[in-house]
Amino acid sequence: MPELPEVETVRRALAGLVVGRKVVKVDLLREDYLRGGKEWLHRIHDARIVDAIRRGKFLALLLSNEIVFLHHLGMSGRLLYVPNEMPIETHVHLRIRLDAGTHELRQYDPRRFGFFAVMQQNDLSRFPSWALLGEEPFTISPSRFAALLTERTRPIKSLLLDQHVLAGLGNIYADESLFRARIHPARPAGTITHKEAATLLRNIRNVLKEAIRYGGTSTNDYRKLDGTLGDFQNLLRVYGREGKSCKRCGNAIIRRVLGGRSAHFCPVCQPSFDAIPT
Ligand SMILES: [Zn+2]
Repeated sequence: MPELPEVETVRRALAGLVVGRKVVKVDLLREDYLRGGKEWLHRIHDARIVDAIRRGKFLALLLSNEIVFLHHLGMSGRLLYVPNEMPIETHVHLRIRLDAGTHELRQYDPRRFGFFAVMQQNDLSRFPSWALLGEEPFTISPSRFAALLTERTRPIKSLLLDQHVLAGLGNIYADESLFRARIHPARPAGTITHKEAATLLRNIRNVLKEAIRYGGTSTNDYRKLDGTLGDFQNLLRVYGREGKSCKRCGNAIIRRVLGGRSAHFCPVCQPSFDAIPT
């Protein structure tokens, strides 16, 4: 699933290619891909895109008439900038035609866990999946981050995946951040010291920044706006590396199911809490 770096990569490309352009027409090829607010759809036509913003794993195009076009890529979604005359592929659910150009935006999503929603900008703060998002990894203070972990019995990995606590991390970057911070994914969040929390937050930011620099991770369906692959999959240290040797100590990386999700980690570099001398 696209996580913060993938969504941010798409956002930056949109900022360069479509901000300032006018929306000529929106074709909804699959009705149920638009959540609610169909009455706003006609308001998009002829509006200018004034900004492309990201919050957690959400993208939003802000339009000149105070309308916002919200998008979540879901599991397998791709937002693509393609030539207007390119034949429409199966699984393209939405087209956004733009003025004065040879290209348009198309949303491709075979598994259809993604969605679009259109609403007035004032209503965005009340849209449930946006309104309930937790703090952003790049702006949360270290003390606030440490406070979020206090007295929590849930495994730290599960807490990092909770979009209501911290918005933007998914399985890939939670595993990579915990490895770099040398914290076992199953460790109860409340046992993490303030110093360890600061180290973890620093590593979360470093991993996310590096992944953005490499255009995100294309292990599955994710593609950049121009349809090409991201490159960060070549730099992963634990995610998807079960049985391969740890790049730090040489031991085998293992995978365990934790809270219904796979956790990849090095049992030597990330000792379980019971094994940590007190
Ligand atoms: Zn190791």
